[in-house]
Amino acid sequence: MRPGLDPVDLCDLTIHELHDRLARREVRAQELLQAVQERIRRVEGIVHAYVTQTLESAEVEAAAIDAHLARGEPLPPLAGIPVALKDIFCTEGVRTTCGSRILHPYVPPYDATVVARLKAQGVILLGKLNMDEFAMGSSTETSAFGVTRNPWNPEYIPGGSSGGSAAAVAAGECIASVGTDTGGSIRQPAACCGVVGLKPTYGRVSRYGMIAFASSLDQGGPITRDVTDAALVLQAIAGHDPLDFTSIPADVPDYVAALTGDARGVRIGLPREYFLEGLDPEVARAVREAVRVLEGLGATIAETSLPHTDYALAAYYIIAPAEASSNLARYDGVRYGHRGGPGALRQMYMRTRQEGFGSEVKRRIMLGTYALSAGYYEAYYRKAQQVRTLVRQDFEEAFRRFDVLATPTMPTPPFKLGEKLQDPLQMYLSDVYTIPVNLAGIPGLVLPCGFSADGLPIGLQLIGRPLDEATLLRVGHAFEQATDYHRRRPPLATGG
Ligand code: GLN
Repeated sequence: MRPGLDPVDLCDLTIHELHDRLARREVRAQELLQAVQERIRRVEGIVHAYVTQTLESAEVEAAAIDAHLARGEPLPPLAGIPVALKDIFCTEGVRTTCGSRILHPYVPPYDATVVARLKAQGVILLGKLNMDEFAMGSSTETSAFGVTRNPWNPEYIPGGSSGGSAAAVAAGECIASVGTDTGGSIRQPAACCGVVGLKPTYGRVSRYGMIAFASSLDQGGPITRDVTDAALVLQAIAGHDPLDFTSIPADVPDYVAALTGDARGVRIGLPREYFLEGLDPEVARAVREAVRVLEGLGATIAETSLPHTDYALAAYYIIAPAEASSNLARYDGVRYGHRGGPGALRQMYMRTRQEGFGSEVKRRIMLGTYALSAGYYEAYYRKAQQVRTLVRQDFEEAFRRFDVLATPTMPTPPFKLGEKLQDPLQMYLSDVYTIPVNLAGIPGLVLPCGFSADGLPIGLQLIGRPLDEATLLRVGHAFEQATDYHRRRPPLATGG
């Protein structure tokens, strides 16, 4: 190792900082990988972010990048960067669990489009990260592979369902990750762990090879250390994919070029319904302070209203379980993974699903099946779809006057492990501010904007028009230029 380049520090840098060092050949991809491996060895026993590690193939990939650099060839922006993925993305030859026992011992024969696109850029894949089972949860406590802990304080949740991704990025156990967001699962854990999370517009990022939870809501997106990194990862994974028929056939803009450092003239709306009772005063203070920073940067701020916000959570908890009950019908012990047997066919089905699914997944399957059943469909599913339209129209109306909406991400700072696990309704309420964005199919960016008195991160959510991720990134990046929350690292990472 050359002087001045402490291997531990490398793990806490961003993609763009590391890219510069790699491209200038100040550091080799193999050195960077070693530094991250060392960090994993040091903190993984506490954080438990990984379900599966792929260290051997990572070493081969890093050596290939170093050979590429030695030949003097140009380096794509993500080449040589150690990345790990939420264990919901299919990875060729690498076990994929979706946080569940029921897929065991599934090893996909193909890569998800997101994975293929990252590989094409030359990222170093470190492994697969923990998550709530089938992405159902807000704390990563429903995983069949044990809980993940918040690197800022291991007694607290890292958020969920992409809790392994957010915790790993915060703790320096990978440089960046890709998660998925059906009702908040990228944004809420990003807020809990003090990192950046972007849920793109529905259809912006291919869902091919991403294990389905609620197909009309699921969307993959970056979890990174800063907004520039989110732009770089989105650039790599976004774009039309003929293998996903909901993928949008639109050009992908240059997201990094959108980062002008300037928020002048951006009209930001504060939806009244997101600042009412139930919002923790520390979170409210941090978000309002962040809005003042944006105003200081030249954005104009005004209050607005999204009148159907109150009904969004209830509609989501009909639509998402209904779609899940249909998507999860395929886990029958015949085609995939775990089989509960022996016995007659019906017994085998029952045993497979009884043994394979955890209680939150079973709860959702039952709720969803009920909501879709004859006689109830009209009262529940159809009604929920009508509410969904109203929620979407609220946003359309607001975006006539505003370019961006600014809100809290979660009503409270991260809570303690175990605190809400026995009370599903309390757990579901963690997502009141993130769910409407999924129902509307629009993009949402979360970035760190403060800390609670207990030293736990708080996230600001910026919501944008369909396909206008660029404006969110621009505003978020301008905020970062004026603040240093994105530079803070948990004491665990720095050895404190
Ligand atoms: N917490 C929400 C749920 O449990 C959202 C999960 C997600 O976005 N995948 O459904």
